[in-house]
Amino acid sequence: MAECVEGSIEFEETLKFIKLVEPLIDAVQISSGLDMNREGNVHMVTTNFKEHMPNAKYARIVKQNVNIPVSVVGAVMSPWEAEELIASGTVDLVAFGRSFIADPDWPNKAKDGKADDIVPCIRCMQCYHISTNRKNVGCTVNPRFTNESFVPKEIKKAETLKNIVVVGGGPAGIMAAITAAKRGHNVTLFEREKSLGGMLRYISRQHYKEDIRRYFEYLLGQVKKHSIDVRLNTSATHDLVKSLNPDAIFVAVGSLPIKPNIKGIDGANVIDFFEAIENPDSTGQDVVIIGGGTIGAEIGLELAELKHRNVTIVELTSEIAAQGNMLYRIALRQKMDAVSNLKRMVETRCREITEKGVIAVTRDGQEQFIKADTVIISTGVTANKAVAESFYGITPDTFTIGDCDKPRKIMEAVFEGYTIASRI
Ligand code: SF4
Repeated sequence: MAECVEGSIEFEETLKFIKLVEPLIDAVQISSGLDMNREGNVHMVTTNFKEHMPNAKYARIVKQNVNIPVSVVGAVMSPWEAEELIASGTVDLVAFGRSFIADPDWPNKAKDGKADDIVPCIRCMQCYHISTNRKNVGCTVNPRFTNESFVPKEIKKAETLKNIVVVGGGPAGIMAAITAAKRGHNVTLFEREKSLGGMLRYISRQHYKEDIRRYFEYLLGQVKKHSIDVRLNTSATHDLVKSLNPDAIFVAVGSLPIKPNIKGIDGANVIDFFEAIENPDSTGQDVVIIGGGTIGAEIGLELAELKHRNVTIVELTSEIAAQGNMLYRIALRQKMDAVSNLKRMVETRCREITEKGVIAVTRDGQEQFIKADTVIISTGVTANKAVAESFYGITPDTFTIGDCDKPRKIMEAVFEGYTIASRI
């Protein structure tokens, strides 16, 4: 309907064209964006920065103008959204893409009234070869996608039932616990916080993480549906785990924020990214974010766009959100470009934090003072190795999974939890 690239096809032209060819076609399907142009690509295969069902507004108008069936595709994220599109008369048909990669049983589950069991797509683009430069193509929430030769479709009941302990209730630990429970094992899941989720608890609170919120809710729902002894507010120790006589241990204790060696980092105006996500209203009017990875970048975008703070992101490397895939970065940049009170400084090092702001050193060695009421440290995380290794020596079947092995994406955490637990 619109290619979302400057100077290219707009809705009015497409509508005219549809009316012209209507006598020659059986049905029309409404999509947007363009895959030949990366700037338009993120509007065809949308990211977390775009609203759900962005093409419904076009489809509604097309439907009012033609007498053939109208279908719509693009970010229809749940059976309820699809139902609403059809029940409201917006369209006659709804088409899906990534939702069925995330869960190939999506239609059956919807039909059988088991929508809560549908694994929701999080629009992360890891399944899209263009996004990942044809490397590491897979699905964050469906470990079997592209791995069909070695990841089983069904989790089979284990022949020998075992005592499994999972330490850490982030995505890796949750997935290991659910999978081991499906195998029929006796599963105990320790989480030191008052609720499950690990990093997901924080990330899912960010404004543009609605789809991750839904995935997180799905995971929590699955934990409840399976026989898992969840022990919250419990810091597992070597002795505690050993006392349960586990046959296998999944260590999923996650990561710790990196605290860079910067003068003034312990100042009263400095907070870490956890606090910034939990309590964005506590930040002052002028904010500097040290570290422009995906988390820091989205905190900056949210504070500038939604809380109207003056935000400067100071990033050491040459790229904002370098660990995100290519289309995620483009979508993020498009969003950031539209927010005038958000400044990005790449190849810039923070030398010192003072009560009044940050002294930064740019690529050419120039010092620059950036005023800040609040400085947010978002310089990444490091594997929680010491705690992870404290569980060694109890049983040979001890597996370190997720970020405590090496900080990565949700995709690796889910993959490791699922594939290892499905073989225990
Ligand atoms: S990789 Fe991400 S975008 Fe693709 S289907 Fe899976 S969850 Fe959705």
